[in-house]
Amino acid sequence: MMLLTSLDNPPLRRSQAKHRPAGAGRHAMRAATLLLLAGALATPPALAPFAFAPLAGAQESGRRNPTVIRDAEIENLLRDYMRPIWKAAGLTQQNLRVVIISDPSFNAFVMDGKRIFVNTGALASSETPNEIIGVLAHETGHIAGGHLARMRQEMENAQTMAIIGTLLAAGGVAAGAAGGANMGGAAAALAGPQEIARRSVLSYARAQEQAADRSAISYLAATKQSPVGMLKTFERMQNDQIFISQRVDPYVLSHPMARERVAALEDLVAKSPYRDIKDSPELQARHEMMRAKLVGFSMPPDAVARRYPPSNTSLPARYARAISAYRYGAVPDAIRQIDALIAVQPNNPYFHELKGQALLEAGRPREAIAPLRRAEQLSGGAPLIRTLLGQALVAANDKSSVDDAVRELTFGVQREPESAAAWRFLAQAYGQKGDLPNADLASAQSALLSGDVQLARELAARARQTFAYGSPGWLKADDIVNVKPPKKKPGRPTP
Ligand SMILES: [Zn+2]
Repeated sequence: MMLLTSLDNPPLRRSQAKHRPAGAGRHAMRAATLLLLAGALATPPALAPFAFAPLAGAQESGRRNPTVIRDAEIENLLRDYMRPIWKAAGLTQQNLRVVIISDPSFNAFVMDGKRIFVNTGALASSETPNEIIGVLAHETGHIAGGHLARMRQEMENAQTMAIIGTLLAAGGVAAGAAGGANMGGAAAALAGPQEIARRSVLSYARAQEQAADRSAISYLAATKQSPVGMLKTFERMQNDQIFISQRVDPYVLSHPMARERVAALEDLVAKSPYRDIKDSPELQARHEMMRAKLVGFSMPPDAVARRYPPSNTSLPARYARAISAYRYGAVPDAIRQIDALIAVQPNNPYFHELKGQALLEAGRPREAIAPLRRAEQLSGGAPLIRTLLGQALVAANDKSSVDDAVRELTFGVQREPESAAAWRFLAQAYGQKGDLPNADLASAQSALLSGDVQLARELAARARQTFAYGSPGWLKADDIVNVKPPKKKPGRPTP
């Protein structure tokens, strides 16, 4: 399943909203500060400064709201890529995860100590697992090095500096210059305080980038993997930077950041005893399937056909065409293509999942159930697949399977508590069962996650009346009734 969700409405956490209002407020303010400065640094929207992409690339991709992609197959592959790296970095206890952003530009970044974000563009353009592992190892280096916390401190210092500067310059020269982002090196002395602050943060960031590079190289060495993919990615990045140089702040351009980093990396790569090690054929094959899936899901049929023409009969090519057929073509044709894939790899859970998804979305939920059950078994109970199965069971609206639906979806929301859609399907399942308090409660959760606090509180209040006082359901409903509507966040970049 390839599921798109918007990052724009970060889910409210009940515990935060109810039990730690002061702390949550402080956190929100810090986040807003970070956003403002991150904006000044031309990093991607709503994100922290440790991006892998060239600054200009980030500028290019603009201020759109990032959309998260959920997909069991790709997430599983990225976990397999990162497990050894995270172990080498001493981060096995941190419960890290890679979050996939739907964006064709090349980027990877971190914004907290728990998640590494990577664009679909980076995944699709990496020719080998090694290339993307190198990129994500670099991001891991930022987390392991605690760079985010220190960068936040640095930004706060910089902001203080900027504020003091603005106050000092109140009737003076700097006021007009403060907004000038296009000042070149020689004009630095005349730059406004915000510009000076910005550059101080930038120089700090450069040191952290090189530290993250060195960490990445050490993780790759510890796991006996080649650093060549990482170098290759940097070289490509450097070329991108030259290519789009026209639209970049000259100060950013005059930084030979990528060049320095590439030179330093070349040195380290030459010394690596693992530089000629290739990815395992098994991992390379899964990588090709991931790329095909991304192409099939994100590109129009003619682009898919150009990338994977009919003459290409490889499994990835057939996968991309089958996905494209399901998204744009006739259902019977898509099912025929998917069945042909299943004939080649009967135990590939994601082929069965795709078949189930195609049937479900074609309005044939009863037929979707069997392939989804198979996908669930073969995937070892992947939460996203169990949720999809639950969705099919609800859509089938069959009295005999309603308990099944509740079970699958309950598991789904336990493992993926931030999925508004899963809560909505669970509400439907409870509704079919005639369990109205639990249906209201699940609907309230869904409304809360979708940002409709008012509706969430109304539904939760109705559920609370029916549950026994103090029961688990009553407590959950009570929590939601007491959620405070979120305050408008200042400084968020608008789309
Ligand atoms: Zn970095």
